[in-house]
Amino acid sequence: MGIVGRVVHRCRLAIALLALAGHAGVAIAQLQPGENATATLAWADANKTSDHQKFVETVTRLGHEAATLTDKQRAHLRYLEAWQVAYAGDYETAVPLLETVVGSSPDKVLRFRATATLINILGIGHRYEEAFSRLSDLTDMLPSVTDPQARLQGLGEAAQMLATAGQYDLAAEYADRMIQSTPAGDSACKGTFIKLHSLFRGKRIDGNDPRYAKGIADCEAASENLIANALRADVADTAIRDKRPRDAIDILEKNYPAVLRDSYASLTSQVESLLAQAWWDVGDAAAAEKYADAAVKSAPGKDYSEPLAAALRTLFLIARQRGDFETAVQWLERYMQADKGYLDDVSARALAYQMVKQQLTSSRMEADALDRQNQILQLQREVDRRAVETSRLYIVLLLTVLATIGLWLARTKRSQLRFMRMARRDSLTGICNRQHFVERAQQVLLAAQKTGKPSCLVLFDLDHFKLVNDTYGHAEGDWVLLRVVAECRDHLLQDDVFGRLGGEEFAILFPGIDEAAGAKRAELIRAGIAAPPAGGPSSARVTASFGVACTLRHGHDLDRLLVVADEALYGGKSTGRDRVVVAMEEHATAKAPPPMAATRTEQPFGLARP
Ligand code: GH3
Ligand code: MG
Ligand code: MG
Repeated sequence: MGIVGRVVHRCRLAIALLALAGHAGVAIAQLQPGENATATLAWADANKTSDHQKFVETVTRLGHEAATLTDKQRAHLRYLEAWQVAYAGDYETAVPLLETVVGSSPDKVLRFRATATLINILGIGHRYEEAFSRLSDLTDMLPSVTDPQARLQGLGEAAQMLATAGQYDLAAEYADRMIQSTPAGDSACKGTFIKLHSLFRGKRIDGNDPRYAKGIADCEAASENLIANALRADVADTAIRDKRPRDAIDILEKNYPAVLRDSYASLTSQVESLLAQAWWDVGDAAAAEKYADAAVKSAPGKDYSEPLAAALRTLFLIARQRGDFETAVQWLERYMQADKGYLDDVSARALAYQMVKQQLTSSRMEADALDRQNQILQLQREVDRRAVETSRLYIVLLLTVLATIGLWLARTKRSQLRFMRMARRDSLTGICNRQHFVERAQQVLLAAQKTGKPSCLVLFDLDHFKLVNDTYGHAEGDWVLLRVVAECRDHLLQDDVFGRLGGEEFAILFPGIDEAAGAKRAELIRAGIAAPPAGGPSSARVTASFGVACTLRHGHDLDRLLVVADEALYGGKSTGRDRVVVAMEEHATAKAPPPMAATRTEQPFGLARP
């Protein structure tokens, strides 16, 4: 297992690496009492490892003043406290502290950094599923985080975690982003290491790749000796595989003292394990045993790692060669245990990664399904809305149709009424025509009969009207007819029925009056007609002869009254015209009455009497 794996095994330096990546070179003056808390926290953050003692003091002191801090400052303090706890190796306590910061910090960058640290610690604790789940949160947050140091930390964490899951290509991509995100002037050593080591583990390259030589030189130039030696371990590994154990020994032994000085257990154990293998391959069992023993002792904690397994295997081979089978069996057992433990851990990591990926995929699919459901709901709503619109349209259409029908009916009714009126009216004068006059007169007579009231029917015919036409022309004759009608109207009451029976012959029914009153009103009309016209288009004078028949004497039958009145009228014609003749006895009306012309004004309606 390379340094990526070792980061998981050894938190102290893992965090140191991240911290160095995050805040290397940030120089803030040492805290002074009474200084601004934000600045104090920034100083502590930047000096977590470089002045660890002072860092611990500062965090402890600020912890007493936590109540006076702002939410943001307090969240930063909690992060540093959690980091300190983790640094001291108490991961169990560190995890919930970091989770609190992730869940409650108002500062996005801090949430991001706390997530990165949390992932690292969860990895150390073999809590891979939680680690990968947090990693997914971290990569979600990544696009919105612009702080360059925080980004480097996050990208580094993502790259290392992906490498532990065996996702070497992805890890190399994240490492590439680390290299690209490294601010100008800073060393890209760590990104380069993770990238080359991921490619190495993924068997994309081996230690002979020229990028290793360059990477080692760059890291040394940046005083990143630990990482330079980690790169050398890969180069040596390749040399051993290539059956060049001497080359491996040359590379590693030269730097072994520096490796011991750095006291990074994982790297020390790896270098010692590789040296043991190389010396074994060279045939120097003693040297091999010395390094293998050292590797087993250096191996961190209870964890199983590839170098530990390799060292145990070398010890087994040495013991077997020596013929010390009892010891050989013991080494073999320990080797098999370590190898199995290591492989179990490898598969646990890969499995956790796949499980989280699967969970994310299925939750995304669920989200997709929800999305679809929402879309369907929206479509349904849209359909409903359209349906409402359509039914509204139908209603409008229906109303329009109804209105049209109503209009059409009204028009029809109006034209019907017009036709009815036309059918009832005389076209020239507008008064009742014969038929309508008969209908109305009959109704009035019937009503009068029922109430026992008297009524009088008056018939009149213009005198010598043919002569008027002949003299003045037919058109002027029409004007005369209109003038006669107008004259009559002047003398009519509301209930009187007036009609043109034909040509120049007219009839009036006076309801509610007796013979004397009827004769009197007829006389008034006669006089009006006979009077010289006052203005108007025609100056032609005309007279008319009147016949009056009343119900008291002749009954309520209209036909009878018409006949009687007609007889009286012709009586008037034959006795000189321009007069009113009241029909008396039936037999008398048939006879010619005495002439009335001379007396018509003095005795207008008594002359016809016998
Ligand atoms: P009499 O005194 O005997 O009734 O003589 P008259 O000429 O009035 O009688 P006659 O029945 O011989 O003539 C009626 C005339 O009325 C004939 C016709 O030309 C005229 N007449 C009938 N209807 C109309 C009409 O609507 N307009 C016009 N200008 N003349 C009409
Ligand atoms: Mg006439
Ligand atoms: Mg006539």
